[in-house]
Amino acid sequence: KMLNNITNDKIDILSLNLEKLQEIFVITGLKKFNAAQVFDWLHNKLVFDFDGFTNISKNDREILKKRFYLPKLEYRTHQISDDKNTEKFLFELIDKRLIESVLISHKNRHTLCVSSQIGCLLGCDFCATATMNYERNLDISEILLQFYYVQSYLSKRGEKLGNVVFMGMGEPFLNYDNVIGAINILNSEKGQNFSKRNFTISTSGIVPGIKRFTNDEPQINLAISLHSVRDDVRTEIMPINKKWNIKELKDTLLEYQKKSKNRITFEYILIDDMNCETKDAFELINFLRSFSCLVNLIPYNPVAGKIYKTPPKKKQKEFYNLLKEKNINVTLRETKGQDIAAACGQLKAKKEMSSINEKQ
Ligand code: SAH
Ligand code: SF4
Repeated sequence: KMLNNITNDKIDILSLNLEKLQEIFVITGLKKFNAAQVFDWLHNKLVFDFDGFTNISKNDREILKKRFYLPKLEYRTHQISDDKNTEKFLFELIDKRLIESVLISHKNRHTLCVSSQIGCLLGCDFCATATMNYERNLDISEILLQFYYVQSYLSKRGEKLGNVVFMGMGEPFLNYDNVIGAINILNSEKGQNFSKRNFTISTSGIVPGIKRFTNDEPQINLAISLHSVRDDVRTEIMPINKKWNIKELKDTLLEYQKKSKNRITFEYILIDDMNCETKDAFELINFLRSFSCLVNLIPYNPVAGKIYKTPPKKKQKEFYNLLKEKNINVTLRETKGQDIAAACGQLKAKKEMSSINEKQ
């Protein structure tokens, strides 16, 4: 497999699960039981320096350095919203590309929103990530390091992450193997032992990905970026709807629901004059009848250069109430951290914009 990073033929040690690490250790002439020790340094103790592996002999550490490399996530900036509940991290990867992760906190309940790709191919019209170039998938290690960085950051004040959502940059089901690979390493007993129930993958509706996921990982939570239940409207704002329309998406989700005990989360961005009139609410309610679900209403977060409008507060509340009256589990998100551009991709988009401006 081609590795993304510049490697000098070395292997990315952080992307390997324990079984693969053991396999390669044996081939390399290292002892199998050392693999478990190294895995513990990396994924449990979060030590990312071969010389810090004090129970590995000096000689073996030299072999490690020759055969493997440790990918890095270089911390670049950090922004904290006025209410302190949203913190955004901008990271630089080994090839200088930028990604972002967002930490959302309620008291000491912490949720990390991670990126799965650099950019996104799907071009949803309301999304900041869609305005930048698609570069590549993230490796397993690059997904893990977002978690590890923030976990270490929180541990300094005696706190830790409670949930992880794949709602940052990119479409997780177009990087299926690395997203699921990272979750499995985080879930492993010898690593963070982080429960699968505490992960949520958000997808724009990649039907083959949802099918594979239904079969392989029914424990992990699923969120669907729905935004409309009418094909004409959904296609206008989400080109992926041309490939897999609402009916196909719905049928696939009914299969997931049969297999998984989890409630499905539906994300629904409220965009004025697009999808939040009374009739839209009734069509949505009708769609939702078949599901055990939670609906997350998200007021549109303005993206530079887009003409879309956020509906007035009163209209948001009316839409919310229509669903509530029909006993649907629904939340209306307060637009969090708008002062720090918290919606996915917005910090990076801003950074690129300002560096373009600097060059001019
Ligand atoms: N690609 C995946 C996951 C990343 S997007 C997906 O689309 O589900 C994460 C969430 O942010 C999605 O629900 C997306 O629709 C939402 N989002 C994107 N742009 C937004 C904006 N301008 N305002 C509010 N939410 C937005
Ligand atoms: Fe990609 Fe999700 Fe943004 Fe659509 S909303 S462009 S799928 S990141």
